[in-house]
Amino acid sequence: MPNNQALIIDGKMISEQVRESLKPAIDSLKKRGIIPGLAVVLVGDDPPSQAYVRMKGKAFEAMNLFSETFRFPADSTQSELETFIEKLNSDPRFHGILVQLPLPFHFNELEVIMKIDPNKDADGIHPVSLGKMVLGTEAPLSCTPHGVLMLLKYSNIETSGKHAVVVGRSNIVGKPIANLLFKKRALGDATVTICHSKTKDLQAICRQADILIAAIGRPDFIDRNFVKDGAVVIDVGINRVEDLTTKRGYRLVGDVNFNDVIDKVSAITPVPGGVGPMTISMLIANTVYLAEKLTANQ
Ligand code: NDP
Repeated sequence: MPNNQALIIDGKMISEQVRESLKPAIDSLKKRGIIPGLAVVLVGDDPPSQAYVRMKGKAFEAMNLFSETFRFPADSTQSELETFIEKLNSDPRFHGILVQLPLPFHFNELEVIMKIDPNKDADGIHPVSLGKMVLGTEAPLSCTPHGVLMLLKYSNIETSGKHAVVVGRSNIVGKPIANLLFKKRALGDATVTICHSKTKDLQAICRQADILIAAIGRPDFIDRNFVKDGAVVIDVGINRVEDLTTKRGYRLVGDVNFNDVIDKVSAITPVPGGVGPMTISMLIANTVYLAEKLTANQ
């Protein structure tokens, strides 16, 4: 049944609520003289990466937390970067380390990530963190997938027993989201189907979804033909499309054609203003969590 009163999930507002909820933990760390600190490593001059790093820095500043960005030229070597990460591992000012991805082509990203001390894995993407997440033991969760769960939680969207279809199987988005959704726990217990570029009958599978999560990286890819009436649609995609009417010459759109699906869905995240702000809030949450763990005996 078409729904003309879809809930537009306000990621900015929920993100503020999450940040507010972190304040007691931050205050109690500060009372012990500890300011959660994040080191951000940025390699090269990819414009979206630079923009994300700026946003992260501002968010930490707004929460009176410590963050520092370390910039490397695009032609830096793997060993230069790894040596620097080892230094950050032993720098007590930083409880979290984040390497902004993607790295320039010549880097082995996984090897770089594996150099981060898992106890300082602010992005929750170290194999140790991902392994713990799969096993259901405590670990920093990958920020964007965790942010998606928080959006569902704060919007009172039940996942238990629902069919969730995740389109995209990347290590940082699709795989961890799918894992979190089928875990035996609150905000989990969904039946999950993972789709990718080789999936046959993608539209038909997506139309079975009670909760459809798009993490593809293709502007407006998901239209009404992919969406069941009353479905919840979470759009992780952030794509720049040329728009010469804007000052920047581009605008951001998601993987979902918002206007085409809006009359079919029961709830949907907009782009921008949906999943994006949550990713940064969960990065703050992870840094606070790591600061608590690392300083527990101080
Ligand atoms: P990747 O490019 O790593 O993965 C894209 C996935 O989509 C792959 O699994 C790919 O399949 C699948 N895919 C591509 N084309 C199709 C298709 N035609 N049909 C079905 N599946 C397809 O991207 P990421 O996971 O890193 O990012 C996905 C999107 O999310 C991007 O727009 C990115 O900018 C955004 N993003 C947003 C964040 C946020 O904070 N909101 C954070 C991180 C990412 P296959 O594996 O077969 O190649």
